[in-house]
Amino acid sequence: MKYDVIIVGAGPGGIYSAYELTSRRPDLKIAVFEAGHELTRRKCPIDGKKIKSCINCKPCSIMNGFGGAGAFSDGKYNITNDFGGTLHEYIGKDTALELMHYVDSINCRYGGGRTKMYSTAGTAFKKKCVQNKLTLLDASVRHLGTDINYVVLENLYGLLKDKADFYFDTPVSTLKKTDEGYTAVTDKGEFEAPECIISAGRSGSKWMEKVCRELNIPTKSNRVDLGVRVELPAVIFDDITNELYESKIVYRTKKFEDNVRTFCMNPHGIVVNENTNGIVTVNGHSFEDEHRKTENTNFALLVSKHFSEPFKDSNGYGENIARLSNMLGGGVIVQRFGDLERGRRSTVSRIEDSTVRPTLAATPGDLSLVLPKRILDGIIEMIYALDRIAPGVANDDTLLYGVEVKFYNMEVQLDENLETMYKGLYVIGDGSGVTHSLSHASASGVYVARHIAETYGHQE
Ligand SMILES: Cc1cc2nc3c(=O)[nH]c(=O)nc-3n(C[C@H](O)[C@H](O)[C@H](O)COP(=O)(O)OP(=O)(O)OC[C@H]3O[C@@H](n4cnc5c(N)ncnc54)[C@H](O)[C@@H]3O)c2cc1C
Repeated sequence: MKYDVIIVGAGPGGIYSAYELTSRRPDLKIAVFEAGHELTRRKCPIDGKKIKSCINCKPCSIMNGFGGAGAFSDGKYNITNDFGGTLHEYIGKDTALELMHYVDSINCRYGGGRTKMYSTAGTAFKKKCVQNKLTLLDASVRHLGTDINYVVLENLYGLLKDKADFYFDTPVSTLKKTDEGYTAVTDKGEFEAPECIISAGRSGSKWMEKVCRELNIPTKSNRVDLGVRVELPAVIFDDITNELYESKIVYRTKKFEDNVRTFCMNPHGIVVNENTNGIVTVNGHSFEDEHRKTENTNFALLVSKHFSEPFKDSNGYGENIARLSNMLGGGVIVQRFGDLERGRRSTVSRIEDSTVRPTLAATPGDLSLVLPKRILDGIIEMIYALDRIAPGVANDDTLLYGVEVKFYNMEVQLDENLETMYKGLYVIGDGSGVTHSLSHASASGVYVARHIAETYGHQE
């Protein structure tokens, strides 16, 4: 089968590539290959009764399928160059922001129009943070919520399905470079195109490494973020989340001068399991629908670990720590902050007696047996720092779930068009190592699509 453009992966990067290409160049024949199911067939079997924890489905419906890792996410589209990726280093700060706003306008047109946009600009909270040795990063955030995010994806699929050929449950096993362009090898046959956009995301990281190895595309990898997910009564963080919804706050630890940051805040949300390549870690969601809101707020506290030579496998380091928690707890471990401070494990009865009701059924245990001291010390320092701007964060009953790991895909060597050393082969989204968020991944898709739309058929 011959196409003009092949897209690998139907996460936000792939979807927005397809959206922009089909809008600008309806004359092009486009194929999208997706390892996971179409949106309506994506179901995680964990029901809390018969199936309580992850059973390692292949493909995992949380991470794979139309919508990618973002499909059941909280749908927070952060419009900023301060975090969420380094797209601006390739395409410039103004273009990156312009594309993120463009993506936001499409999300609004396709179902997200009634959701709220929050902003940190000019907030009094910024001053309070500085006074307490915390830094609040600048951003605007559109919070779609898991439910509206799903509606937007449904609508986008409704629009795109007649304009591009979608192949679900069709992982690309090998990508071959030919004289004419690229051949995607799948169990449904081989598909050729002169242009190929890879948007394989986090779940496709191992496959992406294989592609780079086979085609000799240079890469580098030296970062992983490790930490815990904090869950506490929503009222403690209400002043902050009502005004800003999502705040990225950074603290520099006294002891090691490491940066600890808040990440993925879910007011009135739930804590969830996340499965990356068979390793169960923790994450969070929240909902726009009032009926689905809980009495708790959760957010991650992460410490960034950058490794220097000769160590190269930063993700392997994170994976092994997560494996340790899976080994001890059979999955995610939960511990009361008071128990951690007293150097004892949490037990079922201590969690039951706690005033904070956990929203995830995790195994009570001891995170100090899992997390390296340097990381745990940083998290404890940060909890006390946050307690100064939101009294109650350091309460004994605050729950800590571990581990939360933010794996960074290795960075693929790309030029200012997000093109590899091979003409017509682009790598975008989280799989490129350039982005780590919905808005950056989507924007990178639009960017590459515009480039292809302008140049396709006009090359010498
Ligand atoms: C639980 C959760 C909550 C999150 N919440 C937020 C949030 O609120 N805000 C935010 O900004 N970010 C959030 N994120 C991160 C966000 O989802 C990602 O940054 C974003 O989805 C990246 O988009 P992507 O298109 O690059 O990759 P992905 O969304 O990972 O999509 C990649 C797709 O490629 C497919 N694929 C991989 N390999 C192959 C192959 N060989 N052949 C065919 N298909 C393949 C996969 O099945 C997948 O569907 C969250 C992530 C998770 C897991």
